[in-house]
Amino acid sequence: AAVEGFDVDDVEGAIEAAGHGPLPVLAVIGRPNVGKSTLVNRIIGRREAVVEDKPGVTRDRVTYEAEWAGRRFKLVDTGGWEQDVLGIDASVAAQAEYAIEAADAVVFVVDAKVGATDTDEAVVRLLRKAGKPVVLAANKVDGLSGEADAAALWSLGLGEPHPISALHGRGTGDMLDAVLEALPEAPAQTFGTAVGGPRRIALIGRPNVGKSSLLNKVADEDRVVVNEIAGTTRDPVDELIELGGVTWKFVDTAGIRKRVHLQQGADYYASLRTAAAVEKAEVAVILIDASESISVQDQRIVTMAVDAGRALVIAYNKWDTLDEERRYYLEREIETEFAQVAWAPRVNVSARTGRHMEKLVPAIEAALAGWETRVPTGRLNAFLGELVAAHPHPVRGGKQPRILFGTQAGTKPPRFVLFASGFIEAGYRRFIERRLREEFGFEGTPIHISVRVRE
Ligand code: GDP
Ligand code: GDP
Repeated sequence: AAVEGFDVDDVEGAIEAAGHGPLPVLAVIGRPNVGKSTLVNRIIGRREAVVEDKPGVTRDRVTYEAEWAGRRFKLVDTGGWEQDVLGIDASVAAQAEYAIEAADAVVFVVDAKVGATDTDEAVVRLLRKAGKPVVLAANKVDGLSGEADAAALWSLGLGEPHPISALHGRGTGDMLDAVLEALPEAPAQTFGTAVGGPRRIALIGRPNVGKSSLLNKVADEDRVVVNEIAGTTRDPVDELIELGGVTWKFVDTAGIRKRVHLQQGADYYASLRTAAAVEKAEVAVILIDASESISVQDQRIVTMAVDAGRALVIAYNKWDTLDEERRYYLEREIETEFAQVAWAPRVNVSARTGRHMEKLVPAIEAALAGWETRVPTGRLNAFLGELVAAHPHPVRGGKQPRILFGTQAGTKPPRFVLFASGFIEAGYRRFIERRLREEFGFEGTPIHISVRVRE
């Protein structure tokens, strides 16, 4: 494509960059205090992940976007994990299991100064079973004298231990090179073998909103829980359920059904599980307890699904308990708290009475259709041309930036690149997004718009 004032290579490069599919996922796992959060901080180059001397800092945020040597990936940080009542071995194992499941490759961090512990050995067994690519990071090798400690970790049988100092950065570059070699270009479990199989749904929401009740309701009502479908390998934590004549894969349902009660770290555990489920899914059904005020936690879960670029349906549960007053306030709350996802299809359900269960599938289908929508370049530019003519960008400093050309670089979710003659203000970008939605639908899907400005 040639765009006035742009180099052809720039245009093609920009379209390719914007069209990237979902990013591969790298999980950083290991015992508490080995330096996972410090390493995550170093990789993302920010001070965002909290590091504290004592283990067990509870956080909500568990996935970050990172880049190394021009390649982008998602990083799952398990550093906020707390030792639970089951003891350290069980909690580290559970953490590792969730993280490994969601990941395409794993960095296993061991404290080289301490050496391999029994807990580390237990994690190694999990890693073997999972069969995902692993890079072994021998951390806290702050100087040459620590190299021998790192070499001792060959004994774990995971191949070469990479001596690093997450704190000072020593060796982390070489380790990341090894990570990139191990990491597939695209997330395998999301978009590899599973393509063509049942669509994947993550049923998510904070504790007690009714996830397990809803899952039981849909599984029972339709009485069909398919166990094997030709050509699909069934993950034991996923459940195949037939709804509305179609088989769907509800991902990570073990976490919903198995009511694991943790006294500490339960929030963190829940958010890690939510992140893992969202990564594996195409569409997230976010369950909200409509009888209670919309909380910050509800909003975080919505943000997690939007940031992951998944199709989205919002289901307001426990509708059977709502009186007129609560319904009034709920509408006000939705308007203010969920304004950024006003495009998400909404259903008002009751897992208890079965109210409106039949509306769930059409909402999910609408969201997936929006998520996969592709607007042909000709149509897009006809639309942009009219839009720009009718509503030009405001004049700034005597100049009027113009949109010259646009194209949809990708789907799932839809990603657009616009080429402009000058800086396009945030307000005008939002206006374009609004009009794109009015014109082409995009119900139930986030859309990404990146703007390239002529030099
Ligand atoms: P996590 O629990 O595995 O996430 O561990 P943290 O990242 O919170 O680190 C635990 C402690 O180890 C903190 O006091 C860090 O400063 C320290 N630490 C982390 N990496 C290194 C390192 O490479 N060298 C040294 N000397 N200390 C480190
Ligand atoms: P989860 O933690 O999200 O899996 O939530 P549960 O399914 O365990 O439900 C939490 C509580 O809410 C239980 O006591 C359920 O019986 C109750 N509950 C779930 N759905 C509904 C509903 O639609 N109406 C009412 N009244 N209660 C519900």
